[in-house]
Amino acid sequence: MTTVGQENARMLASLLGIDEADAAERLDRTVLVTAAPGLAAAAGEVEDLLERTIHAARPSQGKPDLELVLGPAEPATPGPHLYASLNRRGVIVDVEPLRHLDEDVHPLLTALAACHITAAALHQVISSSSLPRLGLPLSVDFAELGIPEGSLNTPFDISGAVLVGGGAVGNGFLRALRHVQVRGTLPIVDPKVVGEGNPNRCLYFTNDDVNLPKAPTLAQAAQADFPELKLVPHVCTFGELVARTGLVDTAIVTVDSRRARRSLQKEIPRRVIDASTTDARAVIVHSHSQPTDGACLACIYRHVPDEHARERSIAEGLGIDIEMVREGFITADAAARIAKSHPSVEMGAIVGKAYDTLFKELCSAQALLTPEGRQVLAPFAFVSALAGVLLVIELLRSNHRAAVTNYWTVDPWRAPIGRLRRLRPRVPDCEFCADCADDDARRLVHSLWSGA
Ligand SMILES: [Zn+2]
Repeated sequence: MTTVGQENARMLASLLGIDEADAAERLDRTVLVTAAPGLAAAAGEVEDLLERTIHAARPSQGKPDLELVLGPAEPATPGPHLYASLNRRGVIVDVEPLRHLDEDVHPLLTALAACHITAAALHQVISSSSLPRLGLPLSVDFAELGIPEGSLNTPFDISGAVLVGGGAVGNGFLRALRHVQVRGTLPIVDPKVVGEGNPNRCLYFTNDDVNLPKAPTLAQAAQADFPELKLVPHVCTFGELVARTGLVDTAIVTVDSRRARRSLQKEIPRRVIDASTTDARAVIVHSHSQPTDGACLACIYRHVPDEHARERSIAEGLGIDIEMVREGFITADAAARIAKSHPSVEMGAIVGKAYDTLFKELCSAQALLTPEGRQVLAPFAFVSALAGVLLVIELLRSNHRAAVTNYWTVDPWRAPIGRLRRLRPRVPDCEFCADCADDDARRLVHSLWSGA
């Protein structure tokens, strides 16, 4: 099995509570996408997402496990079939043929529809009652997204923002951002390299990119999609960038750990637009602009006891101290100790890697069935892509001052529900903004950004 296949099998093994070999067998499925001519773009997006998780077939390749029929097209096989209908109001997916309206749909909405169509197709072919529930017909109403009127077609300058993190959600963000009229300059910061498992969900990365630095690799691959936007990579952390270039107006946050998010808040960006995934079960979107009485990034991702459990199990698993794990990246010292207790690990190859990444690589399916393991699991491509689309929508909402809420959680297997958007308050024990924690920090925020 390829590393990408293994990454997907681990995810599914954890979701279904089965072992990795069973999971790999369940992912050995082929979906044929047949689309009406007007839906070629949607078909392309769906195939891209399916291809990173299972197999997307060409018509000549024999009988698929499922034929997905998009729009008013004639099925090419006797089935089983899944049908999707897409128009300006939304997308419907069902096992029965559907009625269709011939309408142009905005490409960002098409990208969102592709995530939901992919979820439904995967759900059909994996076919397990242990998967998160997905009821058919699946009906997604675009009005639930809360996209400000006219914002999809209004050109805007994104200069002043920094994309923090070039991993799965960072890839998803740029894949979605290419569908709106954006110009200016966008720095991308990420200190890490592309891991072997990353291409399972990072659509701008291929297996040839493994071990190359994420930020320049992403910038180079995505640049062709942005004729008026210059992507500028920085191989460093957000804190290091701020130390070099000064305060940042807007942080678009796609990093992969709670700890990294809390430390990012300490750099006091005026505005934060953030999205994260919890394995394949949830996408969380957060935004705020300073000064705010609502939750900050450190409130939303405050320290939870589970993190200790995860750090402890990583430390125990690797045979090192928990303090080393808290450094985030593997130092030469730590690498020497890890190599001692894991003879298969080559010391030089792991220096500078994130602990989460190495842990994932070494984990057996057994270890991943624990709650500690689940937090480091990589989601399927459609989940990261959905997080990216929702992040672009949150940016538009913030740009148009429509973001009166600051928190939204979306189940990637179901339709998004607008009324679940919430305004979360500050948490009393937030390490960044709580009254008791750090008066200086709050005063600083006000002096920096209250006139903004
Ligand atoms: Zn806070």
